[in-house]
Amino acid sequence: MALIINAECIDIKDGECTVVCPVDCIYEGTRMFYIHPTECIECGLCESVCPVDAIRYDDEVTPEEEIYVTINREYFEVTGLGSPGGWDRTAPAAVDHPIVAAAPPNKTTVETALNEENNT
Ligand code: SF4
Ligand code: SF4
Repeated sequence: MALIINAECIDIKDGECTVVCPVDCIYEGTRMFYIHPTECIECGLCESVCPVDAIRYDDEVTPEEEIYVTINREYFEVTGLGSPGGWDRTAPAAVDHPIVAAAPPNKTTVETALNEENNT
């Protein structure tokens, strides 16, 4: 068991969760972050700081979020990252899981951009 990050992180990716993670098991993709399924020690700190409520215990996901349990786990296989033992924050962002790479723009960022445009 571990915690997972869902679609709400896509295009937001502010990195707040990575600041509090005591074992650096949250890894950066191009559009979102991913939690390593075996390196996570389930402390729950990341869940408490996420501004868009994107983090869940993997046994508490909704049916719609279930795919993100698979995505967080598969991410480390499809990217070949394996189990690096900690995110290197100086490294460039890795590619995303293919499902995330193909996902539509996050509705929150689209709405923010539209509001900013309407206010200018
Ligand atoms: S639950 Fe704790 S160990 Fe797991 S990703 Fe969040 S902060 Fe890191
Ligand atoms: S705190 Fe939430 S939105 Fe920010 S990077 Fe982590 S999961 Fe994504």
